[in-house]
Amino acid sequence: MTLAFDPAELTLPRGHYIGGRYVTARDQITVTAPSNGATLGAVPQADMAVVDRAVEAARTALRTSGWGRASPRERLRALHRWADLMEEEAPVLARLEAVCSSRPVADTVAGDIPVTAEQIRFFAEFADKECDALAPTAEGSLGMVTSEPHGVVGAITPWNFPISMAGWKLGPALAAGNAVVLKPSEMTPWSALYMAELSVRAGLPEGLFNVVLGDGPETGAAITGHPGIDKISFTGSTRAGAAIMENVARCGIKPMTLELGGKSPMVVFEDADLDLAAECLERGILPNAGQFCVAGSRMIVARGIAEELAQRLTERFDRHTPASTWDAQSGFCPIISEAQLGRIDSLVRAACDQGAEALCGGARFDHEGSYYRPTLLAGPSPDNPAVTEEIFGPVATFQTFETEDEAISMAAHPTYGLCAGVFTRDLGRALRVSRRIEAGTVWINRYGRSRDHILPTGGWKASGLGKDLGREAYTANRRTKAVLAAF
Ligand code: NAD
Repeated sequence: MTLAFDPAELTLPRGHYIGGRYVTARDQITVTAPSNGATLGAVPQADMAVVDRAVEAARTALRTSGWGRASPRERLRALHRWADLMEEEAPVLARLEAVCSSRPVADTVAGDIPVTAEQIRFFAEFADKECDALAPTAEGSLGMVTSEPHGVVGAITPWNFPISMAGWKLGPALAAGNAVVLKPSEMTPWSALYMAELSVRAGLPEGLFNVVLGDGPETGAAITGHPGIDKISFTGSTRAGAAIMENVARCGIKPMTLELGGKSPMVVFEDADLDLAAECLERGILPNAGQFCVAGSRMIVARGIAEELAQRLTERFDRHTPASTWDAQSGFCPIISEAQLGRIDSLVRAACDQGAEALCGGARFDHEGSYYRPTLLAGPSPDNPAVTEEIFGPVATFQTFETEDEAISMAAHPTYGLCAGVFTRDLGRALRVSRRIEAGTVWINRYGRSRDHILPTGGWKASGLGKDLGREAYTANRRTKAVLAAF
């Protein structure tokens, strides 16, 4: 496949996608390309009336197609066809993603799309394999624990991995028998629309998967407060997650899954394999220019190896240069917007003003587009915002420790608990430390997800509520019913 591509040739989907067709409206939100700042187009903003229409389409699809009640194997087959079609249509889907996001088209084709297709197949397989259970009840009665789909799931996703994040929501929700109304980020609207279009071409009922476009305060709030939406599945910032909880509490209680922010530590002990650690630490922060929730943005390193590791990392960091979104090989990504780049830069500058040292980077690239240099900040004070706040850029702090207890206490974050990395050759220490770190995921001698979709992902503390992926994600998309019969 040729990846080199002129974005001007791309036909952008127009409007929301509701009930199996595009619904156009006045365009209100401008969408730009972070790689060169170009204005690409504009999209409409769904108000409550549009969200109503999408919810009605979803309810009608559930009622008329029997999606949640029909044979689970039919759901499984339809979802497999959809996953296949996404892979067949990867060139178009990848371009619609890459044109407005930070994702290089090469990564989207090689990673985001096939992994998402695989996840959808993974969840499709649950549809006909989860059994209801008999409960041990008294003689003369029969207890059953059964489950049913919720109905309509309202999904809201961020801009950093638009296809993958949509896939995390759609796979388990649809496999479990629900319909979905999805709002992608207003900055990256188009790939989700095309995924919805492909779902209908693959034979999923029209209206089963609807996409409404718009921002958080209006469209997002209309979804989370809508009485016809039965469950919320959100990925985004902790700030927006808190606003969603408030709105749901105000408008009516409903179950929710929240995948939120993080400030994850990567702890390197003195006996670690330094080559491996340097490689993992680089991969823990620089993909997607650090714009990923599980970024290992706090490096916590044993004092005895700190100088050596810092030197290896700065050499690695300095090798990265801005890459075109359309390169056939994946490269260093832009920051999603100038506003976000400005925030990153001011956090870095403030940390340096307050005593941290930028061992490398510390400024934007002198290059068209929103590209920021990979930055390693040594010696920031523990309460500096560069250490405590999610930066969401290619910036890691570098702190040192003497003892295991000190490392664990430095790894603990007052609010976040998304994930962590531990590097050591001592298996006992690795297991001991992984048990003591407060996080939803701990990686030992590696950093980052693999294709093991069976492993649940989701944060502790202010990093989230519930899980995406794994069996947990499937069961969270069904509601349990206890049935007790006397005979
Ligand atoms: P964001 O919270 O600004 O926006 C995410 C989505 O929520 C967007 O679609 C936005 O329009 C919507 N939104 C914003 N305010 C809302 C509100 N009040 N009500 C309803 N919807 C609202 O986040 P972002 O900047 O798009 O993404 C980056 C954030 O996402 C980071 O904090 C990152 O850690 C987090 N994230 C977490 C995970 C995870 O698995 N834990 C994965 C990816 C991203």
